[in-house]
Amino acid sequence: MIPVIALVGRPNVGKSTLFNRLTRTRDALVADFPGLTRDRKYGKAMLGEHEFIVIDTGGIDGTEEGVETKMAEQSLAAIEEADVVLFMVDGRVGLTPADQEIAQHIRTREKTSFLVVNKVDGMDPDTAASDFWQLGMDNMYQIAAAHGRGVSTLINRALMPF
Ligand code: GDP
Ligand code: MG
Repeated sequence: MIPVIALVGRPNVGKSTLFNRLTRTRDALVADFPGLTRDRKYGKAMLGEHEFIVIDTGGIDGTEEGVETKMAEQSLAAIEEADVVLFMVDGRVGLTPADQEIAQHIRTREKTSFLVVNKVDGMDPDTAASDFWQLGMDNMYQIAAAHGRGVSTLINRALMPF
């Protein structure tokens, strides 16, 4: 069984940047994954010895009607399909109400999840993280998806049980 990692989070936190970084060496979109919809993108990825599938919940551009609802639906669907959830937030912007809503969804699920504070390049990682402790998630990792910082540490940890 190939583990499935879902990237969830509000728009603009860096999900697609991380998806592209994880899948670029393979260039393999998965077309026959159950539950495939145009709002979620599936890719095969490889990190060291680990092969996995990554889901980008990327179909929302933030301008369509009912964005909040649609984002929540997509996140929920991806969470259901995943073995591990990477909940991404923006370390530059800090905590937002949309982050809190998504955190609430994740809390209601019995899924292994990691809080991923992205965009910590050029920032003190502890400062970037400080806003997010109140979400009450134990597993917090700081990364810079655009530069790769912290990414392999995170993925290795996320895939440890598999
Ligand atoms: P998504 O909407 O969650 O898929 O976010 P994107 O991957 O499209 O990224 C949104 C913006 O954040 C883009 O302008 C990215 O270049 C930028 N971004 C993503 N990761 C990083 C990062 O690690 N550091 C910085 N400084 N910017 C980033
Ligand atoms: Mg995206």
